[in-house]
Amino acid sequence: MVFEYMERYGHEQVVFCYSEEAGLRAIIAIHDTTLGPALGGCRMWPYESEEEALVDVLRLSMGMTYKNAAMGLDAGGGKAVIIGDPRKDKSELLFRAFGRFVQSLGGRYITAEDVGITPQDMRWVREETEFVVGLPEGSGDPSPATAFGVYRGMKACARWVFGNESLKGKVIAVQGVGHVGYHLLRHLHDEGAKLVVCDLYPDRVERAVSEMNAEAVGVDEIYDVECDIFAPCALGAVINDQTLPRLKCRIVAGAANNQLAEQRHGDALEERGILYAPDFIINGGGVINVYDEFGPGGYRRERAFTRVATIYDKLLHIFQMAREKGIPTYRAADMMAEQRIRALAPLRHLWLP
Ligand code: NAD
Repeated sequence: MVFEYMERYGHEQVVFCYSEEAGLRAIIAIHDTTLGPALGGCRMWPYESEEEALVDVLRLSMGMTYKNAAMGLDAGGGKAVIIGDPRKDKSELLFRAFGRFVQSLGGRYITAEDVGITPQDMRWVREETEFVVGLPEGSGDPSPATAFGVYRGMKACARWVFGNESLKGKVIAVQGVGHVGYHLLRHLHDEGAKLVVCDLYPDRVERAVSEMNAEAVGVDEIYDVECDIFAPCALGAVINDQTLPRLKCRIVAGAANNQLAEQRHGDALEERGILYAPDFIINGGGVINVYDEFGPGGYRRERAFTRVATIYDKLLHIFQMAREKGIPTYRAADMMAEQRIRALAPLRHLWLP
C-alpha cells in the first residue's frame, strides 16, 4: 500500500521510526528534494490508525514541496508525524529518539514544530540532531510571520477585487483567533478593518473583543456573516458542500492549511465569483521565516519579513495567471510551484564536491 501511495503522488522516501523503550512510533515522509533538503514540521497527534498517520504525513509532505517551491525557497518537501497524545505521551526519551532518526537521514529532512509540538520538545530533538529549525534561539514562533503574510495577501486580494488594497472599513470574518489569528487581527485592526471573530475558546474571543473591538459570533455562525473577506485561521476543509452555499463574502483568504475539502470546492468558489487566495501561498510566511535561519549570518527578522511581504506579489501573479489561462486560482498556484521545480531540476545533474 505504501508504494502505491508513493507512486501515485511521487514521494521519494518514507521512513518508519520505532523504539519500544521510547514509545516512539513516527513516520517521516520525504516527498521531493529537487530544490533542496526536505523541510517541514513534525506533528504529534493521536491518530486512530497507522494508515491515518501515513496518509496524513504523505499528504502534508507533498504540500510542503509545493509551498516551499512557490515561496522560492531552495528546499524540498517533507513532514514527520509522531503517533501519540501530546497531552500524555511526551518525554525527553521520545523526542531524543525521534531526533536520532532525523539525524540518521543526514540532512535530507529538516524538521520544525507543528501541531502538538512545543519549543521544549524541539530542544530535546536538537540534542540529537542539527537538522531542526524554528527554536526560540533561532527564528522562534513562526505565527507572527505567517500572520504578516496573510495580512499582505489580503491586501493583494483587495487590490484585485476592489481595485484598492486598503482594508479600512472592510468587514473581515476571522475563524479562529489562536496564534496566527490573533497577530492577524492586530494588523487588520491597525488598518481600520471591521472585525468579526469566533473561536472555540471564549477567552480568546474575549481578548479580540476587548483589545480590537471585534464583534463575536458563534463558531457555526461565522459562515453566514456578510463580509468582504472570510479568513479561515483554524481548521482545514472548511470550504465544503455544507459551508459553500452559506458564504457571503467576496474573498476567502486565511492561514489554515488545506482549506478546500476537495479541489472541486475551489472550482465552486470560482463559479460563485469568490476570489480564493490559495492556502499554501498566503500562509507561506511561517516557512519563509524558519528558512531564513539558513541565510548568511543566521536568522535576521527584518530580512525574513521583507521576504514574507512578497506574498502580495506572488498572489497577484497567480491571479493574473489564473485569469489568462481561464483556470481557478488554486490550480494556478500549483502550476507556479511545478514550474519552479521543473525549471531548476537540471541543476541536479551538476555534481558539487
Ligand atoms: P492555533 O491552534 O494557535 O489556533 C487555532 C485556533 O482555532 C484555536 O484558538 C482554536 O480554538 C480555534 N478553532 C479550532 N476549531 C475551531 C472552530 N471550529 N471554529 C472556530 N475556531 C476554532 O493554531 P495557529 O498556529 O494559529 O494556526 C492556525 C491555522 O493556520 C492552522 O490551520 C495551521 O495549520 C495554519 N498555519 C499556521 C502556521 C503558523 O505559523 N502557526 C503556518 C502555516 C499555517
